[in-house]
Amino acid sequence: MLKYSSGHMYGDIWTLSLFGGKFSCEFSCPYCWKDRFKGDSTTESKHHFIEEDFNIDLNYGEPKTIFICEGTDICSRALSDQDITRILDYCHQYPRHTFWVQSKNPERLLNFTEHGIWEHAYIGTTLESDLELGQEYMGFAPSRADRAYAMQAIAASGIKTYTTLEPLMKFSSAKNFAAMVEQCNPEFVFIGRESLRRVKVPEPFRYEVFALRTEIEKFTRVIMKENAQVWM
Ligand code: SF4
Repeated sequence: MLKYSSGHMYGDIWTLSLFGGKFSCEFSCPYCWKDRFKGDSTTESKHHFIEEDFNIDLNYGEPKTIFICEGTDICSRALSDQDITRILDYCHQYPRHTFWVQSKNPERLLNFTEHGIWEHAYIGTTLESDLELGQEYMGFAPSRADRAYAMQAIAASGIKTYTTLEPLMKFSSAKNFAAMVEQCNPEFVFIGRESLRRVKVPEPFRYEVFALRTEIEKFTRVIMKENAQVWM
């Protein structure tokens, strides 16, 4: 189902979910907005494609930016390679729209770099910090360094990328963290804060966020999300 989202996500964006049922996500990020998954990385997914949604023609209205696979991480174990291919194939039918495919395990997307969708799609990843601050705050997804290496390879293959620093956590230094972000070669970078305030993550000071933004703006565009305006 395609839905307009003006909430805490990315400003004016549409979200696409082609599934029904319940997902588990083994990454179990403590700050995940989906309470039902939190700390529950072993629960088996009980999800299914909504077959009729694949018959919906998205060729209507203005060209849109569409976030794919709202509802879980597209590279979680809940989705097979065939599932991912089916989603990419469906979206590829609509080149008038721009799709954002975001994952905390972008290495898996290296298996799909030959897909035609990348002519009108971006791959994004989350970097909460350049530090590993522990599962208590960061869950079980691949390390930030691993994500940055994978994004570097993705960008080198010619695919457009973006990065989201959300929820932003304490980092080693503005220069070091900006270097990790630059490794991903993003066309734009979001900075966001833990929105729901359910988990108290270790946050940087305002002057540190300012310094980080300044460093990143030396090589790309930074978009401060609404929930991060408090740092400006
Ligand atoms: S990767 Fe996304 S869906 Fe999975 S637990 Fe983390 S925030 Fe939730």
